[in-house]
Amino acid sequence: MPELPEVETIRRALVQEVLHRRLRALEVRERVHLLQNCTAPQLEKALVGKRLTALDRRGKFLVLEFGPWAMVLHLRMSGRLLLHPAGHTRLVLDFEGRTLYLDDARRFAALYLVPTAKLWELDPLRRLGLEPFTPSYTLEAFRERLRSRREVKRLLLDQTKLAGLGNIYACEALFEACIHPERPASSLTQQEAKRLFEAIPRVLERALAAGGTSFDKYRTPRGEPGRFQEEFSVYGREGEPCPRCGAPIARIVQGGRSSFYCPECQR
Ligand SMILES: [Zn+2]
Repeated sequence: MPELPEVETIRRALVQEVLHRRLRALEVRERVHLLQNCTAPQLEKALVGKRLTALDRRGKFLVLEFGPWAMVLHLRMSGRLLLHPAGHTRLVLDFEGRTLYLDDARRFAALYLVPTAKLWELDPLRRLGLEPFTPSYTLEAFRERLRSRREVKRLLLDQTKLAGLGNIYACEALFEACIHPERPASSLTQQEAKRLFEAIPRVLERALAAGGTSFDKYRTPRGEPGRFQEEFSVYGREGEPCPRCGAPIARIVQGGRSSFYCPECQR
C-alpha cells in the first residue's frame, strides 16, 4: 500500500506534470467503489473546465484543488496515478496536454469531492493525527500520542495518532529506534520515545530519496518503481541476518499484519 513516501513522490511528480493545467474532461469508469460522497455528474460539473490550482498531501491522502472544489484521493492497496493507461483504469483526468489515469486493480481506492473552503473538515482528513515534516510534529506532541497501553507498532499504524505511516515504515522505524514492536506504547522511556520520534522522519526521508518502495504495484506517475525495498533493514527479511548484530530477523503477526524485527536489538 502506498505510504507517505510513495504518496509524496506521486505528489511531487504531479506538480511537474499537471499543476496549473486546465481539466478538459473527466471520465469515471468505476463509480461504485471509487466515489465516496458524490456522483460522476457532480464530479464533472465541479471540476471540468477548471485549473488544478494546488496539489497537497495529508497523511496518505492526495488533495487536488481545482479552485473552489477539491478532489481528495486515497490510493489504498493498489491505486496508481499514471500518465499512461495500464489495464485497470477507474478514472481518466484529461488535462490540457496531459492525461492522468487512476489505475486500481483491487478497487479499494477512494475519492471524495469537497468545497475547498471546507477541505479540512472532510471526515477522513479531519481525523488524521500528527503529520511528520510539519511544525506540528514535535517531541511533546508525539509523546502525547504514545500515552496508550496499546502495542507501539499498532499505535504507529493508527492514522488518527500519526498520519502517513504504514506497515513497512513502522517496522523500519522501530528497528532504527531499537524498540520491540509489541511494547506497550506507554512503557517507552523518555529516551526511547525520542529515538522513535527521530527515527520516523529519518526513515521516511530515506524512502523519499529512493522514490518510495515498490514491494507490490506501486509506480510513480511515469511508471518508474521505487527503490527503497533494496534498503530494508528488517521488512520482509525474516530469517536473514540483522544488519546491526547478525541475529536472524523474526516475524510476528500483530492485528493481522506482519511485523519484522530483530529479537536481539529491539527490546
Ligand atoms: Zn540486531
